[in-house]
Order: sequence, then structure tokens, then C-alpha cells
Amino acid sequence: MSQHYDLIAIGGGSGGLSAAERAAKYGAKAAVVEAGKLGGTCVNLGCVPKKVMWYGANLAHMLHDAPDYGFEVMAHDFRWPELKQHRDQYVGNINSWYHTYLSDSNIDEIPGYAHFVDAHTLEVDGRRYSADHIVIAPGSYPIIPPVEGAELGITSDGFFALEERPRQVAVVGSGYIAVEIAGVLNALGTDVTMFLRKEHLLGKFDAMLRETLMGEMLNQGVSIISSASIQKVERIADGTLTLHCSHDQEYGGFDQLIWAIGRLPNSAGLQLENAGIEIDGEGYICVDEFQNTNVSGVYALGDVTNAPQLTPVAIAAARRLSDRLFGGMADRKLDYSLVPTVVFTHPPIATVGLTESEARDTHGEAVKIYQTRFTPMYHAFTQNQSQMAMKLVCVGAQEKIVGCHIIGMGADEMLQGFAVAMRMGATKKDFDDTIAIHPTAAEELVTMR
Ligand code: FAD
Ligand code: NDP
Repeated sequence: MSQHYDLIAIGGGSGGLSAAERAAKYGAKAAVVEAGKLGGTCVNLGCVPKKVMWYGANLAHMLHDAPDYGFEVMAHDFRWPELKQHRDQYVGNINSWYHTYLSDSNIDEIPGYAHFVDAHTLEVDGRRYSADHIVIAPGSYPIIPPVEGAELGITSDGFFALEERPRQVAVVGSGYIAVEIAGVLNALGTDVTMFLRKEHLLGKFDAMLRETLMGEMLNQGVSIISSASIQKVERIADGTLTLHCSHDQEYGGFDQLIWAIGRLPNSAGLQLENAGIEIDGEGYICVDEFQNTNVSGVYALGDVTNAPQLTPVAIAAARRLSDRLFGGMADRKLDYSLVPTVVFTHPPIATVGLTESEARDTHGEAVKIYQTRFTPMYHAFTQNQSQMAMKLVCVGAQEKIVGCHIIGMGADEMLQGFAVAMRMGATKKDFDDTIAIHPTAAEELVTMR
């Protein structure tokens, strides 16, 4: 006989935990099935360990700047294994906290890998569990391309497992993970070469952000090879890796190769066919705006759906779903517009809303752009003249702000409040009428002409 629940979440990551947590708050009997570690990608192999590395890299940049502020910095030695050990401990603590939190919240933890038996029944390690509501939140996995020798490379998962700082690294890809890992490694002293299949970094971002980041990374010493498609990877006699690229180009001497070319949904092992759940051509589970799949009582959210692959998006969708199912809020759903996001590069990027080109495609002549570029005061004193650039994309006579794009020191902590204002419909005049905070870089956003 199967054990019955009001709600079972498949996946104890950002989305699954949040769905169960909110359901339990309403008194529902909830369980989470997790095949790996509680906390999912974000806690174990994503946002959290990544941010620790980003802080470490920031410190390296600041040590470099310190003499310009009058500090005599002694030659310092960076110990990667020590940082990794502290990071693993920190992640491990969050991980164990989740076990306690689930039991304190009366949520059952079911360790193991779930698959569907039918629309309301799951099997985990030979045991069956049924539920009125099943939330599918198994996340995504990193892509390794179908190229000869590709298995010689690692992905972001392997990056977090590195016990020693690699000496010379090839990073293939141009998205979030590629630029973040390249930035961290470069700051910590590794020789980094990025391989882009097109011309740009962060293709979907506003051109101002892309171009500024490219300039900053080149200035910091990252090598960027564009229009290079990897045809084959080979380990040669000295143990290093050689990348054979299009147009007969070869690049060698790498002790690590990191693939960072996107992630695909973890839907293949769920035996969705047993419940008749639809997926699209890439394996993303099809959902409507309320996270409903095509099967009644079965929902999907987070990275397994074709939504922005961001932790707060998975969490927000999950909480709203449980509000709807158990909190009596029949119309509750996530509005996927205006999702703010930060790329933890050096300097960081923060962006929300339409890029300039998206706005021009949609609103044509009604678009007005305000932008500025300057050296932040901190860098006025440093040899490293890292730039700050900001852009507001406005539309119509009211100059409603539909896009806000920032790159530069502090951008990561700057955007959240502006995202609130934009969600409330802020116009350029609202920004202008707001008293600036001086002296900050953020004040430029309310003083742009
Ligand atoms: P996950 O958090 O991946 O959780 C899914 C869980 O389901 C996993 O624990 C998995 O083990 C489990 N599972 C899978 N299949 C089954 C099964 N059949 N049965 C049982 N369990 C199963 N986002 C941000 O917002 N900010 C960041 O700074 C950021 N940095 C990132 C850095 C990296 C390197 C990566 C890879 C991602 C980053 N992300 C970031 C993205 C973020 O981690 C994901 O969008 C988020 O974790 C998605 O949540 P989820 O619940 O959909 O999936
Ligand atoms: P992204 O989707 O960000 O970027 C991957 C890029 O790699 C593609 O856009 C494409 O760019 C390029 N690419 C695709 N295939 C190939 C190929 N075969 N060879 C070379 N380049 C290729 O994926 P990531 O893996 O970087 O990250 C996955 C997701 O995780 C992100 O989209 C993001 O949502 C999330 N994440 C969020 C972070 C944050 O919030 N700070 C940090 C890390 C991850 P092009 O078409 O221009 O070539």
C-alpha cells in the first residue's frame, strides 16, 4: 500500500522545498523526494558556492588595489584548498540545516530517485507514494557537447570539486556560468582563455553590458577567442589538453577545460509517459501560467520548465502554487515579466526588463534611452580603472522605465530596490524626483540627463 500525501515535491532544491514548505504552512501533509543533497543546485553546486568564490575573487582584486590606497601589501599566497574547505563546510552546514528544518516543519523527507507510476503515484527505491498534488521540480543538468574528447572537460559541477587551483583553463561558452567562472579563476591567478562560438559574451543581455564586460575581462587579462567552435578535444603526451577548433585552429596547454554552454531539464528519468505528462522538444515540461501540466493535479516549476533558470524564480513559482492549492488564493500565479538578475562578474552586472534593442523592436520610436559611463570614485585612485555603465530604457510620453541595466562595482546590491520601483510602474520623472544619496554610484540612476 502506498503512503498518501496532500502534496509531494519531486526535488529538494529551490522549487521543491519551497512548494512543500508553503503547503505545510497551510496545514497540508507534504513530502519532498530528493535523490541527492537537500538544497539542490543552488545550495550545493550553484549560487552559494559560486558566491563564495566570487567574494574570494573580489578580495584578490582589492588586494591588487590596496597599494593605491597607501597599503603596503606583503606578497601573499592564495591557498585554494583552504578556501574550498571553508566553502564545503559552509555548504554542508546549510545542507544539514535543511534536514532539521524539514522535520521541524512536519515535512517528510523521502531520499531517493522518483519516477511516475501514474498521475498520482510515484515510486522511490521500490516504495510507492501517492498524492493529490505532485509538483515536479527536479532542476536541470549541464550540457556536454557531442564532440570527440568532450568527456575530458568538466562542467560547473566539476569546477566546484577542484581540489587545487588549475594553472591554465579553457572555458567554453558565453553565458552566466562561463563569465562568472572565468572571472573567478582569472582573479585567483589562473590563466584563462574563453572560447565563444559567436562574437559576444552574454548574447541576450543589453549591448552596453556585453561590450563593457568584454572590455573589462580583456583588461584583466582574460583571453577571449571568438567565433571558435570546438571540433575535438585531445589529451597530449604531457597530460595537457588541446582544443581543435573550426578553421583548423588549435589551442593547447590547458590543465582543465570547462564546458559552460547551458543546461537542460532533468526530465528524462521521471517516466513522465506513465502519467501522460507533456514535454517539449528539449525535454522541458510544458506548463500553463499557473504551473499546471496537461495532467490534472500535476505541476512543474523551476529549471525543468522553460522559465528563467534562477533560484528566486523557482521559489516564487512554488510559493504561489502552494498559495493557490492550499491557501485559497485561486488566481495566485507568478508574473514572469521584470525578473531582475545579477551576473557575478568582476565588476558585476545587474539587469531587469527590456534591453534597448528589445524595446525598439516592440515600441519603435516611443523608446527613449538615458545612459552614462564613468569611473566610480573607488577606481579614481586605482591603477585598475574599472568602468561603471548604466542605462535606463524608457517608453512613451510618460517615459515609463521598462529596462534598467547596470555594470560596475556595487551593481549587484543596487538593483533590487530599483526593480521594486519598476514593478510599481516607475517613470523617469519618479526617478528624477527621488533625492540622490551622495556620494554613491547609484545616485547616477536618479540624476541621468
Ligand atoms: P534544483 O535546485 O536543481 O533542485 C532539483 C533537485 O531535484 C536536485 O537536488 C536533484 O538532485 C533533485 N532531483 C532531480 N531528479 C530527481 C528525481 N527524479 N527524484 C528526486 N530528486 C530529483 N540562480 C540564481 O538565482 N543566482 C545565482 O547566482 C545562480 N548561480 C548559479 C550558479 C551555477 C554554477 C548554477 C549551475 C546555477 C546557478 N543558478 C543561480 C541557478 C539556480 O541554481 C537554479 O535556477 C535553481 O537551483 C533551480 O531550482 P530547481 O528547484 O528548479 O532545481
Ligand atoms: P546560459 O544559457 O547562460 O549560456 C550558455 C551560452 O553558451 C548560450 O547562450 C550560447 O551563447 C553558448 N553556447 C551554447 N551552446 C554552445 C556550444 N555548443 N558551444 C559554445 N557555446 C555555446 O547557460 P549557463 O550554462 O551559463 O547557465 C545556465 C543557467 O543557469 C543560466 O541561464 C542562468 O539562468 C543560471 N545561472 C544563473 C546565475 C546567476 O543568476 N548569477 C549564475 C549561473 C547560472 P551564444 O548563443 O551567444 O553562443
